[in-house]
Amino acid sequence: MQNIVDYIASARDLSLEQLMKLMTADDIEGVKYLFQKAHETAQRVYGNKIFMRGLIEISNHCKNDCLYCGIRRSQQGISRYRLTKEEILECCQQGYGLGFRTFVLQGGEDGWFDDDRMCDIVATIHQQYPDCAITLSLGERSRESYQRLYDAGASRYLLRHETADAKHYAKLHPAEMSYSNRQRCLHDLKEIGYQVGCGFMVGSPFQTLDTLYQDLQLIRRLKPEMVGIGPFIPATGTPFADRPAGTVDATLRLLAIIRLLHPSVLLPATTALGTLYPQGRELGILAGANVVMPNLSPKSHRKEYSIYDNKLATGSEAAESAAEIRTSLHEMGAEAPADRGDYRMEEN
Ligand code: SAH
Repeated sequence: MQNIVDYIASARDLSLEQLMKLMTADDIEGVKYLFQKAHETAQRVYGNKIFMRGLIEISNHCKNDCLYCGIRRSQQGISRYRLTKEEILECCQQGYGLGFRTFVLQGGEDGWFDDDRMCDIVATIHQQYPDCAITLSLGERSRESYQRLYDAGASRYLLRHETADAKHYAKLHPAEMSYSNRQRCLHDLKEIGYQVGCGFMVGSPFQTLDTLYQDLQLIRRLKPEMVGIGPFIPATGTPFADRPAGTVDATLRLLAIIRLLHPSVLLPATTALGTLYPQGRELGILAGANVVMPNLSPKSHRKEYSIYDNKLATGSEAAESAAEIRTSLHEMGAEAPADRGDYRMEEN
């Protein structure tokens, strides 16, 4: 196990067989070594800094019908909301006061947020908070749309690729969504000049070591500035409601492997990890994660952005707990500075 870890850390590559060993080994010392090496790698590139992003969930309306997602179009019995521009700006104001210098605007694919409305919101935030980064996570849009949003002041975009295996993709999504369009979006975003985040759920239905291997190869090829991974958690009312959740253990191993393959990546310890396990976020950091994204949405709407069951939006996942989050990071020897936390080209 230690040999494999040393190999992937130096070669920044791995074979399918090595991935299988890393994911299935029950050699506790070896797994500890994997986490430790990944944590050290993050520290080598970013020092002891952990970056905080304020997550604003702007709408749970969605025209898509992803089989895993609790806010999919055909989901019944949830109340749908969308924030107004004023509400979004209030979130930014609150977040700025709490020390956030990145705002992540995420939502379902809601046609109400067309380019004119979205560009107006982005431009206003950009003008009012010129020292902050604006990250968008609004799903698939046209290249022209991504370009307009970039010109309006957005500089980062999160769009998980979900799986790098086209057949697997088709089992997670309805026929009208396509693997190739998702990939097209990621490439357009890169070309336009965004810092781009791809990613996937750990333990999604039909995922295999083979599809995971392809996910890692995609990360090696695309070299995204950010990678978002978290365990799949079933959402009541969806076609995958009865599927088992992904595990904390597999998520931590994959965080560590991604850190070793791509040392300078910005890698969040996601809310889904914190939802599955109380100390999930801390464990994620000790396995190589270096970003946390607490929830900055208006409290009255947090429960409605229910992409999976029991999603945390309180305590360590709530932006108003920024001070407590900082304290618990300090206890781990880390600090969370009030800065944008941009991608750093790795110094070799
Ligand atoms: N509409 C945007 C944002 C989607 S929500 C987009 O298409 O990018 C962000 C991520 O949540 C998704 O990319 C998906 O990977 C994750 N997600 C959705 N349902 C989930 C579930 N049941 N369990 C865990 N993660 C889920």
